[in-house]
Amino acid sequence: MKIETTPSTSTSRMGKERLESANMSERVRRNQSHLRSHLRSHYDFIVCGSGSSGSVVASRLAENPDVHVLLLEAGGSDDVPQVMEANQWPLNLGSERDWGFQSKPSRSLNGRVLHMAMGKVLGGGSSINVMVWARGHKSDWDYFAQEANDPAWSYDSVLKIYRRIEDWQGSPDPEHRGAGGPVFVEPATNPNPIAPAMLDAARSLGIPTFENQNGRMMEGDGGASIIDVRAKAGKRQSIFRSYVYPRMDQENLTVLTGALVLKLNIEAGRATGVDVLLDGVVTTFGSTKEMVLSMGAIQTPKLLMQSGIGDESELRRHGIPVLQHAPGVGQNFQDHVAFDCVWEYLDPLPPKNTMAEATFFWKSDPALPSPDIQACQAEVPKTTPENAARYNVPQHGWTLFGGLMRPKSRGHLSLTGPQATDPVVIEPNFLSHPDDLKAAIACVELCREVGNAAPLRSFSKREVMPGLLKGPGLEDFVRNAATTYWHETCTAKMGTDKMSVVNGRLQVYGIQNLRIADGSIMPRVTTGNTMAPCVIIGERAAKELSKDHGL
Ligand SMILES: Cc1cc2nc3c(=O)[nH]c(=O)nc-3n(C[C@H](O)[C@H](O)[C@H](O)COP(=O)(O)OP(=O)(O)OC[C@H]3O[C@@H](n4cnc5c(N)ncnc54)[C@H](O)[C@@H]3O)c2cc1C
Repeated sequence: MKIETTPSTSTSRMGKERLESANMSERVRRNQSHLRSHLRSHYDFIVCGSGSSGSVVASRLAENPDVHVLLLEAGGSDDVPQVMEANQWPLNLGSERDWGFQSKPSRSLNGRVLHMAMGKVLGGGSSINVMVWARGHKSDWDYFAQEANDPAWSYDSVLKIYRRIEDWQGSPDPEHRGAGGPVFVEPATNPNPIAPAMLDAARSLGIPTFENQNGRMMEGDGGASIIDVRAKAGKRQSIFRSYVYPRMDQENLTVLTGALVLKLNIEAGRATGVDVLLDGVVTTFGSTKEMVLSMGAIQTPKLLMQSGIGDESELRRHGIPVLQHAPGVGQNFQDHVAFDCVWEYLDPLPPKNTMAEATFFWKSDPALPSPDIQACQAEVPKTTPENAARYNVPQHGWTLFGGLMRPKSRGHLSLTGPQATDPVVIEPNFLSHPDDLKAAIACVELCREVGNAAPLRSFSKREVMPGLLKGPGLEDFVRNAATTYWHETCTAKMGTDKMSVVNGRLQVYGIQNLRIADGSIMPRVTTGNTMAPCVIIGERAAKELSKDHGL
């Protein structure tokens, strides 16, 4: 039976929700201010970093009221419109909520420097990102299981976790999607007409369209669909807000903002705590059970190396005593290098939802076992400074932002010194593998075919870039167009070979009581945006910690 909601009941419900939210916010403020002024010297667990993985670990551990959890975050509050209002996400780029990393100039990208944003705020990337919920391809998870030699990472196992944690709002699909969990996800609502037109364009080229991007579509050859997004009535649903915030009125969960983790303390091969810069003072916190590093794929390996866990020659170069030779730390860097293809609108349409509402996954070569290209349609023109200088980019346009999902190039990180204030050198090495250049050209050609296909023609006045280029001209365009998809990962990989940093239970090899739970543990970057897989990593870490500590 459908129950009609009269205006007066819905108004009173909204009033009640607002009151509950104000009460919660006051309870959180009081509790956290009390906890901050009564800090303990030791906590059972210390989680460093409140991003997509760290938020999950901290919240799951704090489910048990007897367990004391300290969550340390270098950034500040997320309670600002630029984070909360879904359509304001670009305003975070280059702000105080962005670490603002820069790569070393890249030979393979015509000597260009890349700006590599990462979230520095409660919620980390999940508070500044584009909110796309992309679970990864079936084959990614089966690869993780094979590398970890642990079936708990297989697609079948991970699918169960996704179904348990999701609160899916689209057409029911109980085999793939879940309801009632902490992760609200919906297909972009009432999308701009250019989004379904992109699906028609993809279909006209033989790319099948799907009811959503995270069910059957990620078990096969790819396809096109409206994007699954983590926003509700225009408000961002960050992983921090979904997992940690609802527990911040509990006395067993202390969340410290402005807490920069400087160094891990390790005694006799066992992680015992951390030194943290808090309110201008270096403070030491001890953990009685375990330490968890969730600072993302650049800061986690940096902290490991500066704490004596890394390649011995790299550590010695900076006078850091070697506690554990771990040659894989900072190696195997991966991201989805991506390229902008832009069209000018015939009649400008204002961007809707998160400005990106349709996506497709496809193969650069039909012989590949799974898709290696993803393009998101951005409802604004987007380009690099180098291509902006060459092309006349209009004010009103739209972009197909196509990226390589299975890059073969590998980058690495290195230190410039032993202090937390010493920056890391990031060498992404995008397009350094010749197969990636081939795939990049196929990706741009496919984006052009989709973007110029009949169903999209009525939206466009002209193709702005790249236009019909071939050979060296197209290669040069690709090298100038290449940017990060902001999916920095894989720098402390999970596995069993000598370059692996953690095992399948996310324990750091050679050091007791230390785990890593963030994008750095991926053996290879997943097919699609990386927030959802980082949530799975957090869930897996929490499960293993609970099991090992009998929680
Ligand atoms: C602009 C942008 C757009 C993106 N769009 C999408 C998208 O639409 N969909 C998607 O799936 N993915 C997207 N991503 C990627 C996704 O957000 C990340 O892959 C994901 O958040 C990584 O999770 P993580 O837990 O590894 O690290 P993060 O989420 O980066 O969290 C790490 C946390 O640790 C903190 N930290 C770091 N160093 C220290 C220290 N020394 N002391 C204390 N705290 C520290 C950071 O401030 C941060 O809060 C985007 C990322 C960006 C930057």
